[in-house]
Amino acid sequence: MDILKERILKEASVISSGVLKLDSLLNHGVDPKLTMEMGKEFASRFANDKITKVITVESSGIPIAFATALELGVPLVFARRKKTLIGEQDVYCERVPSFTKGIVTDLIVSRTLLSADDTVLFIDDIIANGDAARGLVKIIEQSGAQLAGIGIVIEKSFQAGGRALRELGLRLETLVRIQSLDDNIISFED
Ligand code: 5GP
Repeated sequence: MDILKERILKEASVISSGVLKLDSLLNHGVDPKLTMEMGKEFASRFANDKITKVITVESSGIPIAFATALELGVPLVFARRKKTLIGEQDVYCERVPSFTKGIVTDLIVSRTLLSADDTVLFIDDIIANGDAARGLVKIIEQSGAQLAGIGIVIEKSFQAGGRALRELGLRLETLVRIQSLDDNIISFED
């Protein structure tokens, strides 16, 4: 997606080794028009996969997953990142390390929101080591739902997450692949 690459070059910065700061588009703010374009792109890539639900992880994944779900005409479910006191027993739960927070968090999804009748598309903002994605894949497996594929806005291909998911045989579609952030320079693949 060329427009996305242009916006990343204009608005992103490299804050420490391997970490991209993209507050205006993904992590702290939302550009509704560009977000809808991203949602349309994911929806078109998975248009023939009979998706019944889009799933993501709070919070940065929600706008793009919403745009994708709207285009596909299906509901959106977002995994919450912390245990809450309400309805704890009735959840699918996976414990994952958080790349940006440096802590371990629980991903939880209510059992009422995901079932073996679903074919789901998992959408997220960035993939680094793939821990969040692997956690969500396990939750989908627990529910018995089918995972049609995964759509990620930015794959940092110098980290192992995307490759590991593909090696598991999962379909992973990414809009932009960054091969290096060395010397604070954002360098795309292709
Ligand atoms: P992973 O579990 O793949 O290591 O990390 C995935 C999550 O960490 C993403 O959902 C994203 O929110 C956050 N993350 C990973 N790498 C970056 C990064 O370079 N910049 C930002 N802002 N978030 C990141």
